[in-house]
Amino acid sequence: MAENRDTGIDITSLIRPELAELEGYEPIEPIDQLARRLGIEPGQVIKLDGNENPYGPSPKALEAIANYPHYHIYPDPEQREARAALSRFLGVGTEYLIAGSGSDEVMDMVLRVFLAPGEGVINCSPTFGMYPFLTKVAGGRVIDVPRREDFPLDMPAIEAAARDAKLVFIASPNNPSGNVIARDELDALLATKLVVVLDEAYGEFAGESLVSEVPRHDNLLVLRTFSKWAGLAGLRVGYGIFPPAVVQAAMKIKQPYNLNAAAQAALLASLADEGLLRERVQALVAEREQLAAALAGIAFLRPLPSQANFILCRVVGIEAREVWGRLRERGIMVRYFDSPRVRDCLRISVGLPEHREALIKALQEIGGQLGR
Ligand SMILES: *Cc1c(COP(=O)(O)O)cnc(C)c1O
Repeated sequence: MAENRDTGIDITSLIRPELAELEGYEPIEPIDQLARRLGIEPGQVIKLDGNENPYGPSPKALEAIANYPHYHIYPDPEQREARAALSRFLGVGTEYLIAGSGSDEVMDMVLRVFLAPGEGVINCSPTFGMYPFLTKVAGGRVIDVPRREDFPLDMPAIEAAARDAKLVFIASPNNPSGNVIARDELDALLATKLVVVLDEAYGEFAGESLVSEVPRHDNLLVLRTFSKWAGLAGLRVGYGIFPPAVVQAAMKIKQPYNLNAAAQAALLASLADEGLLRERVQALVAEREQLAAALAGIAFLRPLPSQANFILCRVVGIEAREVWGRLRERGIMVRYFDSPRVRDCLRISVGLPEHREALIKALQEIGGQLGR
């Protein structure tokens, strides 16, 4: 019995029962722990598993964080400076904008704005694990409508499921498949009258965005982040472009200081250094094509086309898990998948040219060891 002998309280029985079935967010082994295990320096670990930006933040963002003078004062709950800067950056009015502690938090706000317990959210797997996770935490019901072979949306199935749902999440480019939503798919989604949440976490790498469509539709919400293109994953800076009524509702329910002062300083300085950040995005896009060509030369890998800063590869003739494990033992971290549609797949983030060289050398060695 979990019951405490002294108090008679069974604290476990008081936890929301629906949380018992919930799988927590997948834990990752921290870099320094992996490095210690392998007997190498943490700096030698090649991290290609989180789609992070290998160039790091803009130097101006680092300087702004170091020199910010008001850390002892709470930040502005209305995020006025951040929203004004985002408005200039995107060319949409501030009334369409809200920022948060990463786009993950903004996603959570959206669910808390729209979802009553038991209401349905359409998830188009394989996709970002936070959508079903946050839906369940919010007490919603996940309706999975898997993507078709090669990962376009299954529009007839979504249209059928829409009767029983309120909201749909779509990542474009999609993580982990790397493909973008087609214009006719977006139009069909909007026509279902669902709340359409379009997650453009990798939009800067695709060079296309549907942000300018938000003012033209009542049911389109776009999410963006500084985690990937601007190298601020650890600082947590994300934002949403929503119909003004949704911004107002989210403003009402959000934690007042959700965009912390360091995150806001980094956001402003990053936008002031957009030229440099765009050059880095261009370098990563060029590197993506180099990486795709190099991976295509590995006998047991079939890289898929990608518009993001990662490449999904099917592994043929060997277990993907085996390749993943052997890369890991060499200090190279990639993502491995074993769910339907991405069974025996690896997702490899685009890094620096030297990361690619080390990865390809390791893959060739692994192929040799496994007789491929
Ligand atoms: C990485 C990623 C995010 C980013 O989330 P943040 O909370 O802004 O770091 C959002 N959506 C997708 C699909 C992602 O892959």
